[in-house]
Amino acid sequence: MILIDDRIVPEAEASVSYLDRGYVFGDGIYEVIRVYNGRLYEKEAHYDRLVRSAGEIGLSLPYPIETLDRLLQDLLGREAVGDGTVYLQVTRGVAPRTHAFPPAGTKPVLVAYCNELARPLDTIRDGLTAITRPDIRWLRCDIKSLNLLGSVLAKQEAVEQGAGDVILHREGTVTECSASNVMIVKDGVVFTHPADHFILHGITRAVVLRLAAERGIEVREIPYTLDELRQADEAFLTSTTMEVTPIVRIDGSAVGSGRPGPVTRLLQEAFEATIGA
Ligand code: PMP
Repeated sequence: MILIDDRIVPEAEASVSYLDRGYVFGDGIYEVIRVYNGRLYEKEAHYDRLVRSAGEIGLSLPYPIETLDRLLQDLLGREAVGDGTVYLQVTRGVAPRTHAFPPAGTKPVLVAYCNELARPLDTIRDGLTAITRPDIRWLRCDIKSLNLLGSVLAKQEAVEQGAGDVILHREGTVTECSASNVMIVKDGVVFTHPADHFILHGITRAVVLRLAAERGIEVREIPYTLDELRQADEAFLTSTTMEVTPIVRIDGSAVGSGRPGPVTRLLQEAFEATIGA
């Protein structure tokens, strides 16, 4: 079943116009919310980010968040998802193709659906390899925009190189990965790029920073360089679907011991406790 605007319909009845501005311009925003045991994880944080993204691009959501929440719960119940995700996007609606905003009164188009998705337990345990690449995306990466070409091209390069993901940098300053945030550990201190307009303000990032602080692990939200990344004792990425995933090799060289490190393990355990696994 698919949620279109405020109707939940069978997939065969779900369609959007070829003039939808999401299709034509990528003019819209989205969220991916984790479902654990049939329940939306950190949903308030995702709703807050959706509202913020909408505000930043001057898009009005079609109805209040309370209505959205009710509809998503309904969708989840009908699909009987256990562990999975909800994908949700809102575009600026359907209008003749011209760059400026469509006429007032043009209705935004909301589409959401859910999928069963197991936790990536193997990569959580073993970690993955990453390559580094220049961050060629735009300057408002804090907006969860449908325009993902920069991330698509970066991730494809990782796939072609046989790597698990790509760590992006702007002139040597590490920003984030193609679809996750990245943190390093040096001498017991966790470093991650500050939540400004160069990165998406990840919900998992925020959870992990909170958990680290609660456990007395020092956290510094400051920019760090590719060299510091290469010298790190540990590195890991955070995202809704990847949770806390160790990065064990970068551009072919081992990170620290080449095995997931103790601070990463501690944060993984702390994270797992928050999802009731
Ligand atoms: N950065 C980017 C570029 C992302 O696309 C995502 C989400 N997939 C993240 C970070 C992680 O955000 P979250 O923890 O909210 O999933």
